[in-house]
Amino acid sequence: MVYLLIIMVLGLLFFLPIKGKFKLIKETPKTRISERNIMFSRSEITRRTELQEQYYKDFPEHKDLDEVWQKKAGLGAKESQFYAPLSFKASEASFHTIEFLRPIVNGAVNPIPEEISAEKLTEFVLNWGKKLGAISVGICDLKKEHLYTERGRGEAYGKKVENNHRFGIAFTVEMDEEYLSTGPAGPTLMESAYQYLNSGVISIQIAEFLRRMGFESRAHIDGDYELIAPLVARDAGLGELGRMGLLMTPELGPRVRIGVITTNAPLIISERKPDYSVHQFCNWCMKCAVVCPSQAIPKTPIEELDGAQRWKINHEKCFGYWCTSGTDCGRCMSVCPYAHKNNGLHNFVRWGIRNNVFFRYVAVHLDDVFYGKKPKPKKVPDWLEG
Ligand code: SF4
Ligand code: SF4
Repeated sequence: MVYLLIIMVLGLLFFLPIKGKFKLIKETPKTRISERNIMFSRSEITRRTELQEQYYKDFPEHKDLDEVWQKKAGLGAKESQFYAPLSFKASEASFHTIEFLRPIVNGAVNPIPEEISAEKLTEFVLNWGKKLGAISVGICDLKKEHLYTERGRGEAYGKKVENNHRFGIAFTVEMDEEYLSTGPAGPTLMESAYQYLNSGVISIQIAEFLRRMGFESRAHIDGDYELIAPLVARDAGLGELGRMGLLMTPELGPRVRIGVITTNAPLIISERKPDYSVHQFCNWCMKCAVVCPSQAIPKTPIEELDGAQRWKINHEKCFGYWCTSGTDCGRCMSVCPYAHKNNGLHNFVRWGIRNNVFFRYVAVHLDDVFYGKKPKPKKVPDWLEG
């Protein structure tokens, strides 16, 4: 009888919806970002000397920091630590294919729009996105703070971003757990490249469909973004931004790639229900920061930076490691307790973390018990070796 009582009390304590009081008050940074400052842009201009000279005149504070990673082998390089022809060449094949998609992110709009209600079109886009392979799809109002101030990649380098679309449609696709768990070995780069391609194809299909329906639309794909995809995805209700600065989704944690389409089509925005349990969990859990080979992820509690409560990783350190490993590493993503396989048990744990503050606290520690405080990368599957 006593045991039964104890079990009932514990059951109530851990399973009742007791969310806890933790809450973020400020989520929008004061300053908008120039794409010229992101690491991919700074890496790209090493091959465009005239742009590089101007960049370090405009941002002299980045010169010494960039000289550190510029001396290393480089992302995808043959001389890098984890170079392996199969996975590296497979990733090159995916990135090469993406180049053919960039000219079609935009296109002609049907001059005679189809008559359709916002309800019907929204229902179609949300459902078709999932049929095309997305795990989750959402819509938000497109805001200035979602957009870069200026472009930093390719032909558009230095151009002011002028996107007056009303809505952002964001979706996520899954990054394969088996490939990612080998990170920083080659399969993680192979999977990243493939999911950039996969999300790019879905974005382009949806944007093209909306233009054929008669509404201006643009796909935002790898190497051709006008916006910060995780911010759009968060505001479209797809997740929250965690310690590593990535979108943490309820389904797969950070183990996703994000695709975005902006449009003037009549749509209904998805209701965002902020889930601050993620930030509280990240405050207690530091697994990504502990395993990060470059110590790029902060170990501090969430703090206010430029007007928003968040964590900010050290991008130069992270990218510096990528230039040593040759891959985009992904250790942080693969060890995250939210990123475990999408099955009944893990989904139950993810639900418990959202639902109950005591469950949340215990789950942080149980993850260490079951998966280790510092999980090791898994072995590369035989067929991918070499
Ligand atoms: S590993 Fe832990 S701290 Fe890092 S993002 Fe995942 S839950 Fe948050
Ligand atoms: S990708 Fe690797 S180096 Fe970069 S933050 Fe994650 S664990 Fe650290």
